[in-house]
Amino acid sequence: MGEQSQTTKSNPKPEFTKLKNGDSLKKKKKSEFVFCKVCKLNHDQGHRHKYFPNHKKSLSAFLFRFQTKLSDIRFFFKNPIHLAIEYASHNRFCCVFCDTGIDELSSLFACTNAITHLASGAHLKNLKHFLCKYGGDMDGLDSFRILDADIVK
Ligand SMILES: [Zn+2]
Ligand SMILES: [Zn+2]
Repeated sequence: MGEQSQTTKSNPKPEFTKLKNGDSLKKKKKSEFVFCKVCKLNHDQGHRHKYFPNHKKSLSAFLFRFQTKLSDIRFFFKNPIHLAIEYASHNRFCCVFCDTGIDELSSLFACTNAITHLASGAHLKNLKHFLCKYGGDMDGLDSFRILDADIVK
């Protein structure tokens, strides 16, 4: 009968000596400037910015401009107009929510590409993100896009 002697090996862990560089570790609280594309200015107000009256004022003008553009596009959508080639280059739609320019150079009808974009899931995603970031009424979401239901008609 052999007695098993348990040998506990003490495994000394190497100690890491931490150098405390108090100065370099200190977080510098720098105010980060972000560009508000609604107000077209740089600000360091962070999330509070979207609650400022000036921003709200700019936002409603910003959204109104888009809605005006969208109602033009809806008009073409309901009344398809053949797009003259020389006009196509002017028929460029800029989606302010997605920061993309959509041209109609390959379209037969005015605003075809814009309509496709406005009905896309990517646009909806960017739109939600925009309204979240800049403030705005989520309930009014559908007034900034073209619904699938509109297209099926
Ligand atoms: Zn702003
Ligand atoms: Zn878009």
